Order: sequence, then C-alpha cells, then structure tokens
Amino acid sequence: MKDYYEILGVNKNAGINDIKKAYRKLARKYHPDLNPGDKAAEQKFKEINEAHETLKDPEKKKQYDLYGSLGARGASGPGPGPGRGGDFEGFDFSTSGNSSFGDIFETIFGNVGDQRPHGTRRGRQAERGEDLLYSMNLNFMDAANGIETTIQVSHKQACVACKGKGIDAASKKSTCPTCGGSGRVQKQSGFMKFGSICPNCGGSGVLPGAPCRSCGGDGRVETTSRLRVRIPAGVDNDSKVRIAGKGNAGRNGGPEGDLIITIHVTPHKVFRRNGQDLEMSLPLTYAEAALGAKIEIPTLEGSSLFKVPPGTASGQKLRLKGKGIVNPKTGANGDLYVEIRIVPPSTKDLKVRELLKEIEKVSPYDPREELGR
Ligand SMILES: [Zn+2]
Ligand SMILES: [Zn+2]
Repeated sequence: MKDYYEILGVNKNAGINDIKKAYRKLARKYHPDLNPGDKAAEQKFKEINEAHETLKDPEKKKQYDLYGSLGARGASGPGPGPGRGGDFEGFDFSTSGNSSFGDIFETIFGNVGDQRPHGTRRGRQAERGEDLLYSMNLNFMDAANGIETTIQVSHKQACVACKGKGIDAASKKSTCPTCGGSGRVQKQSGFMKFGSICPNCGGSGVLPGAPCRSCGGDGRVETTSRLRVRIPAGVDNDSKVRIAGKGNAGRNGGPEGDLIITIHVTPHKVFRRNGQDLEMSLPLTYAEAALGAKIEIPTLEGSSLFKVPPGTASGQKLRLKGKGIVNPKTGANGDLYVEIRIVPPSTKDLKVRELLKEIEKVSPYDPREELGR
C-alpha cells in the first residue's frame, strides 16, 4: 500500500486544509499539461490525486488510517504495509460523481475546455483490438491438404468519420462517457471493488470533443468483411489458426487484434487420422491376398498403386511411408497404414465350393498352429 501522507508530504496529523494545500502545490508541479510526455510526472500526478482523493474525505481517511496501521502492525504474512504498491483491495476508494480531477482543473486552470485546444487530448491509452474467434468446418481432405478460402467476418474497423479518434471534429469538449467525468472507474476483482484511472480519458474526466456520431465515441464501427484466408495443410480437429492483425481494430492508435479460426474436421469414409498417420482398411479377395496383387488405393494426393505381397493375411498392416498427413509445424509427413481385410468369395455356386475343397486337398495347412493344442 502506498503511503498517502508521504506522497503529499504531510504528517499524519495534518488537517484538511494542509492536505488540500499540499495537494494543490504538488498537482501544479506535476500536472501533465506542464510536463508533456513526461511519464514519471504523469505517474506522480496520478499518485498525488489518488492520495488526495482519500485523505480529503474524512470517512475515507479514517478507513485508510485504520487499514494502514493494521497492516503495519502485522509483521508476518503478506499484509498490506508501506511500500507495497498496487490498488486497494477490500475497500472502495473510488469516487462517484464528484471528481478530484474536476477540482484541480477548476482550481488551477479554470475551465478546462477553454484552456485546452482540440488535439491536445491526452491520456487515452492505446489499446490493442480484441481477438476475434471464428469457427470453420472443413472436410477431411481440405484439412489434410490445406485450403485457401474466403470467409465473411464481423469485426470492428477504425471509424472513417472520426479517423478512429472517437471525437466529433466539429464539437467542443465533453464529459468522458466511460467514467461520467470522475476520471476513475470501478473494477471488480472477485467480491472486492477497487477504483482505477479511467482508461477512456486517462483520468482527466473530459474528452476534447463530443463523441463521434458514427461510432458513438469508440473510434471503431462494426462491419462485415470478406477475408481471404489460407488454412495450412495438416490442421486437425480443434486446431487453431491465427491470422495476425485481422481481429478488431485497436483503440486510440493501438494495434489490431488477431483472427483465431478454430477448425472442425468432418470424418472421412475411408481414412482415419491418428496423429500424423493415416489408417485405412483394404478389402481383398481370397485370391488377391493369397497370390498378391496390385491395387489402386485412394491417398491424400489422389490415388496410388499399392502392391499386396503374396500370402498377405487378414489383419496385417502394411505401411506406405510418407503418405500420411503433414505436420503443419514441422513439415514432416506421417505414414499411411493399410489394414488388410479378406472378404470371402460367394459360395452359392456348387462349382465354387468344389474348387475350394479341391484347394484344401491339394494344399493342406493349419492356420491355427499358433493357438497350440
Ligand atoms: Zn473517463
Ligand atoms: Zn467515429
């Protein structure tokens, strides 16, 4: 926890007038308008305001004094104590409505709008645009081989009317709509509330103009775009493809977010995927398996002539090296495993039955040898 008395340079018994006096003196010294571009001064200015915000209010001061002294007494544990930075937890120190920033602008600079010309808006922080999530269904072959396709996405792009600034160029200053002019917003963390500097106005509570009517002050408008995207070969079910810079436009000059496409792959009637390997089942006739054969089988590239060696058994798995799915990260190819399935001939015909018996007689063998007796 920051020591607010130290920040304002007053002792703990200082009265409200001393606190206000110290605050004004410091605020005058560190005000951003007098220290353009000075980050350290800006930080200091924020601290001074934070300290003043609390100490000027008798009720908050009491809470702070109590909280601070409790923290200092508890020597063990990560209790709050002087030097521990960050926001308060457990207390709501933010103001609503009345603004200390308003106070300082009144007391030091008079009416802000008259003093600050257009174009000197500061403090609105550049924010990266949000990532957009998109879901894409691909058939098995397109996922395995990759595809370039056009999709339609709804996203926010920089508002043309205000050039992304969110301000109506013809207007004068206005109260910040995000914080209602207080310069502070409340954040919820679990069940605790704490105040922080308003990101929209940087704590000043004012914007140098009315919100742009086209975008409502966001600086961005919702739009639908057609986008050409390339899905790399080898994506799997639930793979995520990130298209950099195709998400929402940033705010206040921040960079664009990304478009993240989640892939859903529909199953294939022949191929099953196992990591980078493909598996398929190949039905053979009795004769093909026994005598060997050259069979045209489907592959990712189209088809391939597959050589079945003589005496191939049902259930045997034969490997075609490199005919699997490419790993989109490494570029390495998996293999294709072909599992043999022997389909018996139809034996409705008497002649077929006799011929099969003939084979048994001519070439007797025990296929159950390995079972033992
Ligand atoms: Zn604000
Ligand atoms: Zn606009």
